[in-house]
Amino acid sequence: MQQFIHYFLHFGFPLVIAWGFYRPRWLRAYIILLLTMLVDLDHLLANPVFDPCRCSIGFHPLHSYVAIAGYALLLIGPNTRLAGIGLLLHMVTDGIDCLFISSSF
Ligand SMILES: [Zn+2]
Repeated sequence: MQQFIHYFLHFGFPLVIAWGFYRPRWLRAYIILLLTMLVDLDHLLANPVFDPCRCSIGFHPLHSYVAIAGYALLLIGPNTRLAGIGLLLHMVTDGIDCLFISSSF
């Protein structure tokens, strides 16, 4: 169930946003939202690269609170808003994972 929520928020929810709010150019919007998942590249800096029991938020550089504050600023500009939405959605998704991780111990 946790996996389902995770992958829905990463792939399904962006589609809902793109289709719901960017209908004429929904595919372009969807691709931009999916591209924001590239922030997970910062995991490559960590050792091990993937650890299912590690909370990303506040651990990886692009998942730090400073970075998240920067993503919120992206919402201000019309051209960067969609990227900001995608990045914040990503942080929420990872944050939900953190709740699952901390409640399973
Ligand atoms: Zn992430």
